[in-house]
Amino acid sequence: MAIIRTLPDTAAGRRRLALVSPVDRRRLGELEVSGRGDVDEAVARARAAQPGWAALPVRERARIVGRALDVLVRRRDEIIETVHAETGKPRVEALTMEIVPACDFLNHWSARAERALRPERRGLHGYLRPFKTLFVHYRPLGVVGVITPWNGPFVLSLNPVAQALLAGNAVILKPSEVTPYSGEWVVRILREAGVPADVVQVLHGDGETGAALVEAGLDKISFTGSVATGRKIGAACGAALTPCTLELGGKDAMIVCADADLERAAAGAVYLSLFNCGQVCLSVERVYVVDSVADEFIRSVCEKVAEVRYRRADSADVGPLVWDRQLEVVRRHLADARDRGATVLLGGEPVGGDGLHFEPTVVTDVTHDMTLMTEETFGPVVAIMRVRDEDEAIRLANDSPYGLSGSVFTEDREKARRIAARLDTGSVVHNDAAVIYGVPEAPFGGRKDSGLGHINNGAEGPRGYTHAQPVLLTRRAARKEHVWYPYDASTARQLNALVRFGFGNRLLRRLLS
Ligand code: NAD
Repeated sequence: MAIIRTLPDTAAGRRRLALVSPVDRRRLGELEVSGRGDVDEAVARARAAQPGWAALPVRERARIVGRALDVLVRRRDEIIETVHAETGKPRVEALTMEIVPACDFLNHWSARAERALRPERRGLHGYLRPFKTLFVHYRPLGVVGVITPWNGPFVLSLNPVAQALLAGNAVILKPSEVTPYSGEWVVRILREAGVPADVVQVLHGDGETGAALVEAGLDKISFTGSVATGRKIGAACGAALTPCTLELGGKDAMIVCADADLERAAAGAVYLSLFNCGQVCLSVERVYVVDSVADEFIRSVCEKVAEVRYRRADSADVGPLVWDRQLEVVRRHLADARDRGATVLLGGEPVGGDGLHFEPTVVTDVTHDMTLMTEETFGPVVAIMRVRDEDEAIRLANDSPYGLSGSVFTEDREKARRIAARLDTGSVVHNDAAVIYGVPEAPFGGRKDSGLGHINNGAEGPRGYTHAQPVLLTRRAARKEHVWYPYDASTARQLNALVRFGFGNRLLRRLLS
């Protein structure tokens, strides 16, 4: 059942892993797990190469990274095949989830990098303006480590790697051991586009490799993955004072209001719970539907789920779970829900055989006593809870250790904004969900256990991989500042006058502000 298994060590004592496809058990390859020595060598090469890359004008770096879009467009079918073989996601899903957003990110960031990264003159307020001029320079950090998961193995690697490169860093990518070749494509297309080999590298391996990278004294770690691993990385980065962003798990809630377009809400609940077999950090994992429309909504959801194709076939809407570990989690959550009184209206079982396909499932009568409603399930399950009204929906949506994203289905956009203001989540989407990661203008990051820090931030995205260095120039230079030594009676007199007549006067306060 396992799609990854440990092989005997090499003669040189290296650990080895064998990989098979969740689609058809086809052998995909063998990996040697990179150890601390490999990490140190890669970091040394990256450190040597980074200054040359950073010395290129941003426009030139953007031209090279932008060329990777041509390579991606040309080689997309090969990338789709790799992603499909490694994750089992239907090819069309590899297009929607991986290729299209990856094209958009490369296009967007490379077009905007020069503007985002050029030194910026910032106006100073009245008190300082006569004396100083402020520039902010966006300096590369150095060598950035990017550690990524298996559920969006291409795009979740490409986005941070491209931003960090544009900002002038060298990057070492450590993709998931379950999807190493999908991650490796990111490095391949960037190298083919002209990024020097030592400036963008890939290291294969599992947690041992990831941990070694985190401890290698890098200048930033960009991590996407589970909460448990995120905590370990956060602790290690804290100890070393290495900056990091942590994009972690979610348990996203969808709220269906009484005035929602129920046809769209039901279709959305089905797709947004099931796409990628439910293995998306931004999947809808909990649906709260207002009681007055719940019967009609549940009926419509069941009709739609019954039509979803999931058996092993090229035309399937839902592919297999990615590996046996995930299958166990889904089984465990459903068993716990059944034991505690939930009703499984549809599905609820693995398809059978030794495969990883699982029936698209609809569960009602769920409560917050069930792990299905409290822990990340990451499976093809639509879990629906009736609520009295929107207030109860909001309270329950917030009753979670996670806070990645959330969604509100209503015909009233202002109501959607009012509800959003009461949700403790990194983002909120109206009449849709999950798409927020694909909006580069939006800051993206989770609250509570769902993460630390943001990625994607408008034209400023690549600035997340820089140090914003203020450079303060002095405009009027007297021989010495009046607050410098020696202090004398006039020092305090002048400062007191500033406080009393400047900040003490309402009109002057405004001029100084
Ligand atoms: P994971 O945490 O098991 O692994 C993620 C990566 O970390 C892998 O490359 C793994 O090899 C590496 N790793 C494992 N142990 C490590 C350690 N001690 N030090 C350093 N690296 C280590 O996560 P996963 O199972 O691959 O991915 C699924 C999780 O990712 C889900 O929880 C999902 O919600 C989350 N996710 C979050 C986002 C987001 O943007 N917030 C996006 C996608 C996935």
